[in-house]
Amino acid sequence: MRLLRTLVISDVHSNLDALDAVLADAETRDAGGRVFCLGDIVGYNAQPREVIARLRELGAICVAGNHDLAAAGLIGVEEFNAVAAEAALWSGEQLGDDERAYLAGLPLTQVVDDATLVHGSLRDPVWEYLLDRFAAEAQFALQQTRVGFVGHSHIPFAAVDTPGGGTPRPMLDGTRLALSRDRAIVNPGSVGQPRDGDPRASYAVYDDGTQTITWHRVAYDVAAAQRRVREAGLPEVLALRLARGR
Ligand code: ZN
Repeated sequence: MRLLRTLVISDVHSNLDALDAVLADAETRDAGGRVFCLGDIVGYNAQPREVIARLRELGAICVAGNHDLAAAGLIGVEEFNAVAAEAALWSGEQLGDDERAYLAGLPLTQVVDDATLVHGSLRDPVWEYLLDRFAAEAQFALQQTRVGFVGHSHIPFAAVDTPGGGTPRPMLDGTRLALSRDRAIVNPGSVGQPRDGDPRASYAVYDDGTQTITWHRVAYDVAAAQRRVREAGLPEVLALRLARGR
């Protein structure tokens, strides 16, 4: 069997400074030859075109998030809060036709080998925040593969389908999940806008050889990303939250 260390990322949100820090860090761990990207490529931050270009360069296997669909004009921004809506509309204005077509062409779910990729959840790929045991159970009822990767909440966690278990547990920097026969749901956390109080970019490495998933955090140039948000004229709160990791 070909051994692979897949880099798993989500919610990059147009933050190229964070994405490039993740890619460099993942390379030191022999990961990144294959990339799973769980949606919300754009939104909130200031470099949508650059982030799309980087992911295409990498040949990342991506699914669509709510911000991608909004920027592509496929859904409205009525469900977004005011700040998210403003950033989603701004993101859409930055895109060329080719970039808009790329986002519009992303599938809502993808199965790759023994993994399922979706932004929210399988019962509601675009909108559901999978955060508790009940949502995890609903996901396991639909998940055909051993691992299901989700994003959307920006919270790094793992849930394992054991009797009485299934509650998502937060996964800190350096924590590792050994895959067993029990199915798992995994959120790698957010690259571009962490919300668990740790401002460092979050990602995971899915190792086919050792059958493990490991979570990592990497510091990046937050000040540079904040400067770009301000220069773009995006809401100040989007710059401030990067430093707080909220
Ligand atoms: Zn997001």
